[in-house]
Amino acid sequence: MAESNAVPGSEPIARAPAGTTAASLLTPTGPPVDGFVQLGKLHVEASIFDDFKKAQQYLAKSPEAVDQLYGLVHGRTEVDVRPTRVGNDEFGARDGRPAISWAPQGALLNTDGSQLTPAMGLLHEEGHANRWLSDPAAFGRDAQPYPVGSADARTWTTPEERRNITGLEHRVGAALGEGRRDDHHGQPYTARGPANIESEGHHRVAERIAELKAQGTIVPAVGNDIHAVVAYDRRAHNGVFVDVGHGEVAQHIGRGEYMMYDVAKDLHGVTPPEGVNVDVTAQGRLGPAHEPALGQHR
Ligand SMILES: [Zn+2]
Repeated sequence: MAESNAVPGSEPIARAPAGTTAASLLTPTGPPVDGFVQLGKLHVEASIFDDFKKAQQYLAKSPEAVDQLYGLVHGRTEVDVRPTRVGNDEFGARDGRPAISWAPQGALLNTDGSQLTPAMGLLHEEGHANRWLSDPAAFGRDAQPYPVGSADARTWTTPEERRNITGLEHRVGAALGEGRRDDHHGQPYTARGPANIESEGHHRVAERIAELKAQGTIVPAVGNDIHAVVAYDRRAHNGVFVDVGHGEVAQHIGRGEYMMYDVAKDLHGVTPPEGVNVDVTAQGRLGPAHEPALGQHR
């Protein structure tokens, strides 16, 4: 690691006492209170506790990640962990209480094409929370944005993000074999689980194509390589549909790229036929595929 990249506050936090394990830290310290599992000073909303545990057990391969969990369980004040939508992870006040908002299926596609699991998203927010717990003045100072228009503002947003990403996130990510980002950017997407980088959409499209092939159903133009499965971008598309369940369909728009549609929300409740070439308008209306215009040739 290049010393020139060292950022104040990016060094590891205090080590947990010898013998501390993730399993001991994940054992509730009392009965649930108002729907929150009690882990000392850390209170995890019960609906995401199983996913939280999976994430922490996975992260525990890095001792520094266990130190982060220890720091929250034994913090100077209480911190909540609550669910949020993919792409909305953050540390800040919720209902007047310090809270980590975490999407258990929220993975990140980095600028360089590498990926980070939802568990790494949780670790990242824990890094902010522990900084705030251990040194609220430094946290407040570093959370001020870099000057508008500066290269640092474009790359890192704030010194706090730079500190957290180039320190904790890089070290634990390297220990776990995760992707790595050298900026505060990335495209959030829905992963199959807290310790998984495989996209939920990718998995469901692949499963359905395998089923159709096993049934002998002809799926023209739907290839073996699935490069990207993204949410409907509200543009016009043409291609073959597959029904991936849960009220969603995916359309192969070419080169292994699939659009994912929510039938009720995106397609006015109309389910397109599988294995047939269909046009979708920018308004989500279905129509038969049109022949391409012949044009002039000579
Ligand atoms: Zn952050």
